[in-house]
Formats: sequence, C-alpha cells, structure tokens
Amino acid sequence: MIKKVISSQLPTADLLHSCKLLPDTCCQMGCDAIEDAHHIFVHCRQYDEWRASAALLFTDKCSLWPLHYSAYYLGHIPNFNHLLPTCANLSKLAFTCLVYHFSADWHTTSIRLAGQIWGNWQKETAVTLDVRGRRR
Ligand SMILES: [Zn+2]
Repeated sequence: MIKKVISSQLPTADLLHSCKLLPDTCCQMGCDAIEDAHHIFVHCRQYDEWRASAALLFTDKCSLWPLHYSAYYLGHIPNFNHLLPTCANLSKLAFTCLVYHFSADWHTTSIRLAGQIWGNWQKETAVTLDVRGRRR
C-alpha cells in the first residue's frame, strides 16, 4: 500500500476523476474536501475516532513533522525530541534509546492504523462503485 500511496496510485476520487471514472473529486465519505490520500488518512472525519487516541500526532503540525505535515501513512515518524521532556536523571544515550523505542512503536502502530483506514475505505467505497469502477 505504501508504494501505491507514494506513487499516487491509490484509487482515490482525485485519481478516479482524472481518469474520468468519477464525476468529481469530493470525498466519498461525505466531507466537503477533495479526496486524496492525505485527506483520507489525516483529515477525513470518517476516521476521526480512530485517530483520536493520539490526535496530536495525526495532525499537520509544522514543528512535529519533518515535512511539516502528517505523513504517518507513508511510514514517516514525527520528531519525538520535541514531545518528550528532557530529564536530568536520564543520560543522553538513555534519552536517545527512549526516542528510538517511541519511534519504532509509533511506526508499527501508525502503519496498522493506515491499513485499517484503507481497508475500511475500500469496503465503504466499494458499495458505491460497481465492478467496472463506475458509480451506481
Ligand atoms: Zn473525508
């Protein structure tokens, strides 16, 4: 899935519209937004509840993300150095190890979330598309 996201091959409304398979680029979940991968994984209200447990980490916050927007669905990891408080009792090596473990756990969890969102999105949008990719 990540390769398809990176190469913009996910069958989102913006791609299907450019191939003349959908009449518009609107989110198929009912949002007033253009449906692209970033919208589905970061902003789509259909998945707000799924992202709620770590909402700060799923938002487009410039200081948190190396690219200045959330790209967890691409396997990117936020900069945890800004989130974790420094502790005088913790050596630099121990702090680096802590950041590493947070990053590894974050990566695994966020990729699982992206897979869940994508699976649900495919299931929900399959109802509105017939087997030839046309809208019913
Ligand atoms: Zn949406």
